[in-house]
Amino acid sequence: MAFNRIQFQPGMSIPEFLRSFGTEAQCAEAVKAARWPSGFRCPRCSSADHYVVGHGARKLFQCNGCRHQTSLTAGSLMEHTKLPLTTWFLAIYLISQAKTGLSSLALKRQVGVSYPTAWLMQQKISRAMGQQERTHRLSGEVQIDDAYLGGERTGGKSGRGSENKVPFVAAVSVNEAGHPMYAKLSVVSGFTSLALGKWAKANLTPGTVVSSDGLGCFAAVTGAECLHLPTVVGALKPRDLPEFKWVNTVLGNLKTTLAGAYHSLKYGKYAEHYLAAFAYRFNRRFDLCGLVARLVVDVARSKPIAEKAVRAHAEARY
Ligand SMILES: [Zn+2]
Repeated sequence: MAFNRIQFQPGMSIPEFLRSFGTEAQCAEAVKAARWPSGFRCPRCSSADHYVVGHGARKLFQCNGCRHQTSLTAGSLMEHTKLPLTTWFLAIYLISQAKTGLSSLALKRQVGVSYPTAWLMQQKISRAMGQQERTHRLSGEVQIDDAYLGGERTGGKSGRGSENKVPFVAAVSVNEAGHPMYAKLSVVSGFTSLALGKWAKANLTPGTVVSSDGLGCFAAVTGAECLHLPTVVGALKPRDLPEFKWVNTVLGNLKTTLAGAYHSLKYGKYAEHYLAAFAYRFNRRFDLCGLVARLVVDVARSKPIAEKAVRAHAEARY
C-alpha cells in the first residue's frame, strides 16, 4: 500500500522545527524571504533602496524612494497581528504535521493563546491552504465521487435538506502505475450538471479521463473537454470497485481526520476550509518535512482577510 510508506515518514521533529524557526529573528527572516525572494521591493514604487527600523515582527522597511513604510506582515494574512511570529510559526508547524487534523481547542492548548485567537489563526491558515489548492488542476486519470460533510455518504439520493450537510466533490488523480497523486475536495451547490460543469472547468485540465459511478451530473465533465467513463455499479457499492479505490481511500482518511478534530462543529459554514486543509496536506504528503517551510511561504504570501469576512457564511464555489 502506497499510504503505508507515507505514514512512516518522520515529518519534522520539534527540535528540528525549533532549530529553524525557534526565534523571532529566524521567523522574521523566513517571512521576508517568502515575501521578497529577490530582496525587498517597495510595494508602492518597487524601489529596492530601503532601510530597516525595529526588529522581529515589528520590523519596518522604509523606502528611500517614496518614504513608504511597510511591515513584514502588511498585506498578508498576518497583517495587524499582535502575536509574535513564533506563535504563528508554531501554529503553522502543528497544523502541517497533525496527521489526523487539529482542533482549535488543541491548538489553543499547545500554542498558549485564547480559544478565539486559536480559532482565528486556524481559519486563516486554512484559508492560505485553500488559496494555494485552487491554483492547480487535476489531469490524466481522475477518480471522482459525490460525498457529504456532516452525514453518511448517500450517493446523492437521500438525506438532503439537512442544513448541516454540505455536498462536495471528491476527486483523486492517479498515475500510470495506478498510484494516487493529487486530491481535490470541493464544496458544490448540489450534484447538478450545472455545478459539476462549472467545477470541471475550474478544476480539470482538458483531456482528463474521469471515472465515476452512474450519477447523472458527472457527465457534465465532458463540457470541460474531458472524457467521461461512467461505471454502473448496480448492486455493488462504489467502494468495492477498483475504479474508485483511491477516491474511497481519501474519503475514508478524511472521515477519520474530521472525527478526530472537528466532531463538535457544524460543517456548513467552514466546510470549504476543512476540506482545503485536508487536501493541502494530502497533496504534499511526500514531503512532510518541507511542508512546514512551504506553508510558511503560502501564509506569508496570502492576501489579508478581516475577521468579519472569516466569520461570514461561506458560499459554495460551484
Ligand atoms: Zn517606495
